[in-house]
Amino acid sequence: VQADAEGKSPQEVYESFHRGFIELFQKLGLSYDLFTSTHTHNHFKVSQSIFLALLENGYLYAERQKQWFAPTQGRFLPDRYVEGTCYLCGYPNARGDQCDGCGSLLDATLLLEPRSKIDGSTPELRETEHFYLDLGQLQPAVVDFLRQRQDYWRPNVLRQSLGQILAEDLHGRAITRDLDWGIPVPVEGWDGKRLYVWFEAVIGYLSAAIEWAQLSGEPEAWRDWWTNHEARSYYFIGKDNIPFHAIIWPAQLAGAGKSSPASSLRMKGSRWCCRMMCRRMSL
Ligand SMILES: [Zn+2]
Repeated sequence: VQADAEGKSPQEVYESFHRGFIELFQKLGLSYDLFTSTHTHNHFKVSQSIFLALLENGYLYAERQKQWFAPTQGRFLPDRYVEGTCYLCGYPNARGDQCDGCGSLLDATLLLEPRSKIDGSTPELRETEHFYLDLGQLQPAVVDFLRQRQDYWRPNVLRQSLGQILAEDLHGRAITRDLDWGIPVPVEGWDGKRLYVWFEAVIGYLSAAIEWAQLSGEPEAWRDWWTNHEARSYYFIGKDNIPFHAIIWPAQLAGAGKSSPASSLRMKGSRWCCRMMCRRMSL
C-alpha cells in the first residue's frame, strides 16, 4: 500500500524501513548477531520447503473464490483497495474489509457500487484459485501446544489464543495471493501467485537461524536453537500479532513436521516440531 502511494517498488520501501530500523536500534545500544529480512534467497527456499511439507502432509487445499479484479490495471485488488457502499447500512465510503459507518467486518465481494481506490475505476468479480492452510485439521495440535505451556505464555497471549479457538473453531485460511512480487508458489501451474505475507513472515524465525548458522561457518548450528530441549524462543510482538505467533506459526510447524495427520505429536521443549520437519525438508 505504501509503495503504491509513494510510486515506489515494495522492495525500495522495505529497504528504507530496514535501514531505518537497524540505525535506530544501534543508536539505542542494541547489537545483533544477524539483522536480516525475509527478502533473501535462503528465506524463499525455507518458506517453500515448509509449504511443500504442509502440502505433502495433507494440510493445504486449493479452492476457487471470487475476488475484485481491476481491468484498468490488469490485476486483482486486495480488499482494502476496493471501496463502495456498505451492503449493511448504506454508508457510501465503506472499505472492502470494513465499514467505518456501522463498524462491521465486510465480505468485500458484496460491496455495492464498488470502485478501485487506486484510480476510481469499476472492478469486476473474477474467479481465482488459492491454497488454504487447513487450520481446522491442525486445531487439536495447536490447542495441545498452548495448554502444555500454560506457564510459558504470558496470560494475555494464552487467553486471547486459546479463548479465540475455543469460542470459535479455526477454519481454513488462504495463504496465497495474486501478486507479481514475493515468494513464488512452488507448484507447477501457479505462476503469478505468491505466498501471502502472514504465511511466510513467521517462517523468518527459522530461516534467520539457518542463515546465521551458514554465515558463522557452522551450518548445523541452528539446530541447537530449534531441536534442543533446553532452547527457548522469545518473541517481542505487538498484540495484533499474537494469533500469528501463538496459533498460525505453531500450526505450520506441527503440520510441516507430522508424518501423517494420524500420527501423534511429541511435545517436549521445541523438539516436537523439528525432528520430523528437518527430515522431511531435507534441511
Ligand atoms: Zn456499514
